[in-house]
Amino acid sequence: MDIKTVGVIGAGQMGNGIAHVFSLAGYEVRLNDISQEALDRGLETIRKNMDRQVAREKITAGERDAALGRIHVTQKLTDLGPTDLIVEAASERETIKAAIFEDIQPHLKPGTILTSNTSSISITRLASRTDRPERFMGLHFMNPVPVMKLVELIRGIATDDATYQTMLKVVDSLDKTAASSEDFPAFIVNRILLPMINEAVYTLYEGVGNVQSIDTALKLGAGHPMGPLELADFIGLDICLAVMNVLHDGLADTKYRPCPLLTKYVEAGWLGRKTGRGFYDYRGETPVPTR
Ligand code: NAD
Repeated sequence: MDIKTVGVIGAGQMGNGIAHVFSLAGYEVRLNDISQEALDRGLETIRKNMDRQVAREKITAGERDAALGRIHVTQKLTDLGPTDLIVEAASERETIKAAIFEDIQPHLKPGTILTSNTSSISITRLASRTDRPERFMGLHFMNPVPVMKLVELIRGIATDDATYQTMLKVVDSLDKTAASSEDFPAFIVNRILLPMINEAVYTLYEGVGNVQSIDTALKLGAGHPMGPLELADFIGLDICLAVMNVLHDGLADTKYRPCPLLTKYVEAGWLGRKTGRGFYDYRGETPVPTR
C-alpha cells in the first residue's frame, strides 16, 4: 500500500517527534490531541527542533517551512479518518488506547494501517479489539524521535506480511532503521536495557559500588556513552519501574523483580531529571550523586 497521509494521535513528547519526522520525510500529517494546549505546545516544539536542525545545517529553511506546512493539528479525532496510516502515541493507558481505536475505526478507509507507539501494552491484545488485526502493528520510536535512528517494528500474532512490508518501507523512508520484534513484554530494547539498569540499582542497593563508581565503571569499562544510573534518571525512574513490573508480571520470572531501592526512589518522588532529583541531584550547577 502507498502511504501518503499519516494521522498521529497524541501530541506529547513522542507524538510531536513522530509528526516532525513524518512531515520532514514528505508525508501529509494530521496531528490530534484531546488537549488544545498539548497541540500548541507540540507544534511549538516541532518548530523549535526544526529551527535547531536548520542552524546545524541538517535541513534548509525551505525544507523546514515545507514540512511545517504539511502538519495540520486538530482536536477532532475523526479528522484523521481519511489518512493512510495511523500512529497512536497517546498516554500509556490501555483503556485510552482501546477507546481511541474504537472511536476512529468507523471513519477509516478499509486499507488504513493502524499502529501504536506503546512501550508496554500487548500489540496482539490492542489489535484484537479492532476491525483489522491483520493491518495492526507496533511502531515503537525511541526518544528523542528526531535524533534516534531506531524504530522497533512489532508484529502482533495476526499482523499480515503486506502490512509488515509496507511498514518496513515507511521506516526506511524516515531515514530510520527498523529492528523487528515479536510481541512479547517490553519488546527488544527495553527487555535488555531495563534489567541492566535494574541490576545497576541492585549493585548500588547492595553497596557493591556508589553511584559514581557504577556509572564510571560502565562508561569506561563497557564503552557506554552514559552510565546506567545517569540513563535511569534521563528515562525517569517511574518509567523504569513500570517497565520492570511489565517484565515481572508478563514473563513471571523472578529475575525481573524490581529493586526495592528503585521503588523507594519512586515513592519519594525522586524520579530523575524531570523532578530535579533521582540518582543524581540536578538542582545545583552540576549533578551531585545522591548515594
Ligand atoms: P505524553 O504524556 O508526553 O503525551 C501523551 C499525549 O496524549 C498528551 O498530550 C495527552 O493529552 C494525549 N492524549 C491522552 N488521551 C488522548 C486521547 N484520547 N486522544 C488524543 N490524545 C490523547 O506521553 P509520551 O511520552 O509522548 O508517550 C506517548 C506514548 O509513547 C506512550 O504509549 C508511551 O509508552 C510511548 N513511548 C514513550 C517513550 C518516552 O520515552 N517518553 C518512548 C517510546 C514510546
